[in-house]
Amino acid sequence: MQCDEAVEAVASLATDEQASDVVQARHVAACLRCQAEVARDRRLVRELRELRAHHLSPDATLLSSVLGAVDHEAALILRLRTRRRVAIGSAAATASGIAIAIAARKVRTVAS
Ligand SMILES: [Zn+2]
Repeated sequence: MQCDEAVEAVASLATDEQASDVVQARHVAACLRCQAEVARDRRLVRELRELRAHHLSPDATLLSSVLGAVDHEAALILRLRTRRRVAIGSAAATASGIAIAIAARKVRTVAS
């Protein structure tokens, strides 16, 4: 039997269950590679069980710092939009002034 044929027995033994396949169980009992895999999987199962019991408590200042960062970004975006509107309004006013000056010059030229 090859090691990759004993994966069910390795998985069962890693969770402290009895292997249902006797041939696979015999292979694992005689194979150092499979025994190492059982040990590694047991350690992984133990660590996962410990994580299940480990509770993380959120930082009390996390919400206020996130909201502060959002407010800061929103204020920055608002300032940029206001500057853009002022620049567009200024350009429109300049263009209007130039158009009026050109029209007034044409009127004077035609009148004289
Ligand atoms: Zn093996």
